[in-house]
Amino acid sequence: MSEGIIQVKNLKKSFGDQLILKGIDIEVHRGEVVVIIGPSGSGKSTFLRCCNGLEHAQGGSIRICGEWLLQEGTMLEEGRLNGLRVHVGMVFQSFNLFPHLTILQNVAIGPHKILRQPKTHAEQMARKLLQKVGLADKAQAMPASLSGGQKQRVAIARALALQPEVMLFDEPTSALDPELVGEVLAVMKQLAGEGMTMLVVTHEMSFAREMADMLIVMEEGRIVESGPAAAIFAHPAHERTRALLHKIM
Ligand code: ADP
Ligand code: MG
Repeated sequence: MSEGIIQVKNLKKSFGDQLILKGIDIEVHRGEVVVIIGPSGSGKSTFLRCCNGLEHAQGGSIRICGEWLLQEGTMLEEGRLNGLRVHVGMVFQSFNLFPHLTILQNVAIGPHKILRQPKTHAEQMARKLLQKVGLADKAQAMPASLSGGQKQRVAIARALALQPEVMLFDEPTSALDPELVGEVLAVMKQLAGEGMTMLVVTHEMSFAREMADMLIVMEEGRIVESGPAAAIFAHPAHERTRALLHKIM
């Protein structure tokens, strides 16, 4: 098999004197969808944030999209880090839209400011992306007028506008009312179906069951179990995985 688009080896991350990630190893190939589950505080967000350089790790290596983001504990220099981040899109639990910009501007601002595309070009692409996430009619709306599910779909379109090779999702539906979860998962499923490489922290097990090539179970900064989702659902190797699945399903 070809080299992974994400290769993480023995990743260690501390906050102060607290070791939070205690040696994470993952390899993800292009087009794969990896779902990460684990109790609150197990380091899932910290891990995702390390993968696009939002957190500086102290040990191990991360090679992503052909670049050493972290090599034997040394981070890529800041200038090149920004270049790499363009390839690694991220969607957060809280949508973080710019409240004073229209929906169209929220999606177009990245390509215009970061990729230096002409405004008309950036807006043209933004319209296509809004269409893709089912929000073409909201281009001129302000974020405050949208539902949570709509805001999160805009956040996905905004991340896609930078044409990332990898998308990281950190509990993208956790802040949503239950009836709005489906519309966001539908967009994510569509993306996965198109071959996007995705690392998804979620407790939506329907998504994991349908879309995940690999399920990873984290606990206290370690991967305690990984493999095909169906196999883990059917025969969790650890009692703790069993308890966790019982809680979230
Ligand atoms: P999860 O996403 O699995 O709930 P996190 O990655 O957010 O877990 O947090 C893992 C641990 O790291 C927690 O104990 C949390 O308190 C700690 N932590 C996360 N971010 C910080 C930070 N910026 N400073 C100090 N501790 C942090
Ligand atoms: Mg988290």
